[in-house]
Amino acid sequence: MARSLRNGDFDLVLAIQSPSSPDRWYRVLLDRARALAGETVLSCDCVGWRQDARNLAARRALAAGRSDASLRVPRGCKHTDAAQALLGSPSSAIMPRFRTDHPYVGATRTRWAPLRQFVPEDGWGIQEARVSISDESYHLVLLQATGTTGTTATAAIAFASCHPATLGSRAAPVGDWGGYTIAASFCRQAGVPLAGEPPLHFAEELPTRSTARRAAPQPGTSTREILAIGDQRDLGDGRTPAQRAEITLRLFLGPQHALLERQGFLDVSSGLYPGRVYRLRRDPQRRYERRVRVFESGQYRADYCIVRAQSVPEADQFMSVYFGLIADERRILSVVQRGNIFSPHSDGHEHETVPAVWQPRAGQAAAAA
Ligand SMILES: [Zn+2]
Repeated sequence: MARSLRNGDFDLVLAIQSPSSPDRWYRVLLDRARALAGETVLSCDCVGWRQDARNLAARRALAAGRSDASLRVPRGCKHTDAAQALLGSPSSAIMPRFRTDHPYVGATRTRWAPLRQFVPEDGWGIQEARVSISDESYHLVLLQATGTTGTTATAAIAFASCHPATLGSRAAPVGDWGGYTIAASFCRQAGVPLAGEPPLHFAEELPTRSTARRAAPQPGTSTREILAIGDQRDLGDGRTPAQRAEITLRLFLGPQHALLERQGFLDVSSGLYPGRVYRLRRDPQRRYERRVRVFESGQYRADYCIVRAQSVPEADQFMSVYFGLIADERRILSVVQRGNIFSPHSDGHEHETVPAVWQPRAGQAAAAA
């Protein structure tokens, strides 16, 4: 399988807006495998980085496993230089906290349903600064989230100052890039490789004025159409909250969404109990949540009823339970009281034909090795 951000080989370090087009964003990625080996190898998808011959040579050397010192670290571009500076600065400091009524926090929580439950209301930090990248001026937004388990993740989004912007207009991109980065980071820190698919470039997604009316946008590819869910009913996109939640779920699950569609369920291996697998099923009609089937050492043992905390679309609930079992399993289990544990086949007689195979998390595998 090719290495890619989608497959979880890279971390999104910084999203930078193009000074020439407000809808175009560059992503600076950190090669995770190299980072674990103590090296900082950054890449960018701007033309400058991709066309730089030295980067190409370095990429080939990396792909071939050569360790020529002169090729080891790509020269980079102005974006990777900026990200390098960001990585070098102490960003682990606690940032000023903001409540959920801040537009950035609101947009992130609206867009990424699992973060509404996993990050407490006072768990959000924001820092903003004017920075220079090359000779361009940028407005840098750092968004930090501390989850219910104490896990912290930080996202960095840089807006080119030449484009007119307000707090409100920055909120949507902060929610998109920031929420994705934070949700992905929480999954990774919990030892589960990133399931999510990053938001694609705005420039690739937004239909031009002439095609907007005729061409139906590809589901899951437009950040604008998935900006809001929940109680914001009329976003002018003709979609219902349920449809938008489905698009966000597809974005978050990435390739696993097709698997979910095909087999009707996804398995999450327990991080607390070796051998236990949670099988999350979906109602084909998307009307109500199904009970979670719990397997111990391959044997179907029980049904857990995890009820919706609030009135949210079914896809939002599925995403929240899936994310919750990865990022804060203890908390999810704490709401499954004795009265919510049922014997097998309590809400359906579908026979299980696919084995539920427990897989250790990254940390567990390392500890066992
Ligand atoms: Zn670049």
